[in-house]
Amino acid sequence: MRFFFPDSQDQVDPGFDFVTEERDPFRVRQRDDLYAHEVLTQAPFDGLLVSKAIVDGKAGGGTGKYTAAQRHRLYREGARRFFRLDRGHTPLKIMGDCGAFSYVAEEYPPYSVDEVIDFYDGCGFHYGIAVDHVIFQYEPKTARNDERAAEWVRRQEITLALAAEFWQRCKARRVCFTPLGVAQGWSPQSYADAVVALQRIGYQRIALGGMVPLKTQEILACLAAIDQVREPTTQLHLLGISRCDDVPTFATHGVTSFDSTSPFRQAFKDDRDNYYTPTGTYVALRVPQVDGNPKLKARIRSGEISQAQALALERTALTRLRQYDADEIDVDPVVQALVDYSAVWDGKSDRSAQYRATLTDRPWRDCPCDLCKAIGIEVVIFRGTERNKRRGFHNLYVFEQRLRPQRERTRA
Ligand SMILES: [Zn+2]
Repeated sequence: MRFFFPDSQDQVDPGFDFVTEERDPFRVRQRDDLYAHEVLTQAPFDGLLVSKAIVDGKAGGGTGKYTAAQRHRLYREGARRFFRLDRGHTPLKIMGDCGAFSYVAEEYPPYSVDEVIDFYDGCGFHYGIAVDHVIFQYEPKTARNDERAAEWVRRQEITLALAAEFWQRCKARRVCFTPLGVAQGWSPQSYADAVVALQRIGYQRIALGGMVPLKTQEILACLAAIDQVREPTTQLHLLGISRCDDVPTFATHGVTSFDSTSPFRQAFKDDRDNYYTPTGTYVALRVPQVDGNPKLKARIRSGEISQAQALALERTALTRLRQYDADEIDVDPVVQALVDYSAVWDGKSDRSAQYRATLTDRPWRDCPCDLCKAIGIEVVIFRGTERNKRRGFHNLYVFEQRLRPQRERTRA
């Protein structure tokens, strides 16, 4: 079972100073900043999933994470050099897709098949996913000829027609990557129908799309229906699904790979499960920058709080966190400082009990990953991109550790 991490150009600056919060003045982002697979001794994934929408930033607007210069460099140098895939201990694979989420609201996918092939082949990817159109609904009882299913059928037909064209163009152009078709559906039966059509075209690798909002039982129902039609040689990829505990079960249904950003994004998007451990999760300790918090800045502007007061509370919180990590003070004054500061930038949620749990257990001290070893308590502080991304990379490391025994079970 291979795990692909969807790339959004998330890197960390190895020279960042956590105390002064300054960067090396000679830092060159593209040269000095490091990907997760460079910062961790062993890459926490088998490959990267690179979306055309993320690289181009056209479809849907606002999804582009690449500057024009980065985009040109990716095409010029190819993925292997651009992502420095050979620098880690394990050589990584690159899978490409179109980023169908970014154009979900459109009538029709905005990319032509040849344009997408240019992207995959031009950048030297190992796998390329055909152009698809997401179906979000899941209604197992709605039949194909039901009026309610009209739009879903339309999207499935677009996806299958583009898959047929993609397959033919890949053959005609003698591409160097392995093409994957996409099955979109709204029910177990409709997913199975799509798999039948894709196998008929010639696909031996099929990605299952639109399953992100589905419950595990619903995914398993779809996989069971697909089992009825799946050729023994067909391999499945789950798009956007990371459910570690279910990996051995998924494997029995022909799933050989999946991708997800969850372990990374939960570090700074989730309300509670920010820091992974082998057995659970902790909340991260929120100390936002006075300058970076819009709500707090508005309160300062309106005169509700003085800037000096806010800065002093922020400073005290950081100082006490470091004193605590150096075993100089007890947990109570640290929780108090976090709560005092929170009263001015948040004022609503009381996270003191969760903060106390994170602080008392000090999970970062038990973690052998390169990031926790290097920066200690800073990794659990919810503050700015350098700490938040490092915590995301740590989560990827833990995710891989959790995944490993599950993967070994699938091999046995
Ligand atoms: Zn760690």
